[in-house]
Amino acid sequence: MSGDLERETSELLRDLVRLNTVNPPGNERPAQELLAGMLRDAGFEIDLLGRTDERPNLVARLRGSGDGPTLCLLSHVDTVLADADAWQRDPWSGDVVDGELWGRGAQDMKSQTAAEVAAAVALTRSGWRPAHGELLIVSVVDEETGGDEGAIWLTENHPDAVRCDLLLNEGAGTVFNYGDDRFYGVSVAEKGVFRFEVKTDGVAGHASIPALGQNALLKMVPLLQALGERRTTLDVTDPPLALLAGLGLPVDGDPAGAVATLREADPGLAAVVEAMLGVTFAPTQISASEKINVIPSQARLQVDCRMPPGMAEEQVLGRIHEVLDGHDGYAIEVFETKVGNASPLESPLMDALRGWITREDPQARVVPTMIPAFTDSRTFRAAFPDCVAYGFFPQRKMDLHEMWALVHSHDERIAVADLGFAARCYRDVTKELLGG
Ligand SMILES: [Zn+2]
Repeated sequence: MSGDLERETSELLRDLVRLNTVNPPGNERPAQELLAGMLRDAGFEIDLLGRTDERPNLVARLRGSGDGPTLCLLSHVDTVLADADAWQRDPWSGDVVDGELWGRGAQDMKSQTAAEVAAAVALTRSGWRPAHGELLIVSVVDEETGGDEGAIWLTENHPDAVRCDLLLNEGAGTVFNYGDDRFYGVSVAEKGVFRFEVKTDGVAGHASIPALGQNALLKMVPLLQALGERRTTLDVTDPPLALLAGLGLPVDGDPAGAVATLREADPGLAAVVEAMLGVTFAPTQISASEKINVIPSQARLQVDCRMPPGMAEEQVLGRIHEVLDGHDGYAIEVFETKVGNASPLESPLMDALRGWITREDPQARVVPTMIPAFTDSRTFRAAFPDCVAYGFFPQRKMDLHEMWALVHSHDERIAVADLGFAARCYRDVTKELLGG
């Protein structure tokens, strides 16, 4: 029967890819109607809840006979845009070529939507119902532009419809190698965002006689250099410590040393792990004089800063001043923050995922990861503080490096075998956690 599940998941993904949900504008209703119809026929209670008619969120519920946890399989059905000219194939074809299904959303994340829904339908068709607790299938709109009409709107306006104890979402799960070992990451945490502006002041003057002015742009140079070159004291949290331990790197109070060892073997992986261990700064935008012949009296530098979960604003500001220590004549203004967020490293959900990988891919191990970006897990963790939310979509044909090159890029595609792999995972883990 496993072959059936793979085929059904692949056909559903093809149908979803063919429904263009590029956001903006999203236009997710046809995709949500397709999923709602399948889940309704399978015996789920269906709610389509949205701020507007064109963009409903789908909530499908299957109640069990006894008390127990609510398990939510979450995904989003909108995608980023696709520049068809840059693709080798039509981004909305859903074509299967050499065992890979092509199209926008094949990785991020209609594949997971398809696997979650196909698994749920296959379970109920066989007569399964939760023995305890309940199963929720939730597919939201509007993730790619922040979730104002999706996860945020849904958890604020219909919290009772989507309240859950255990949640599986996007964020990790693609296999990667380190040394002779294979690993599947489970995303347990997300870094926060702390975007700020650095301002320097000078005195305007005619550019033909530079010495008569004070150039604010030149005052920015040492600050820019410090932000680019210096490193802050690490702010170490449990997920990267557990990840390093899982990779077999002795941390022993010296995470920087463990990262240095990792860098010798795999610089790319080391860069990712290092970003999990502390506050990072990426200066990305700068502005100064508006005229070529006027020495600027003010310069402004925008910095995209990310911090590990659990850090308060004061602590992050402390790290900024640490990096800029020894310099003066600048001011800091914070203009956008999002807190980092995390779930416990250990839980019945982690046990189930670890057990499943151990059975399916005995050579491999499961490790926790922290992602530097944010997903809808952030919104669910904030709305339901007791909810254990993980990012996990297992893939083993394509590895992490291959996958990252395709997400939000051209020629996005996925191995059909991995669609079956992921759907079996969701089917088996659901049964294990809800019984029946
Ligand atoms: Zn996504």
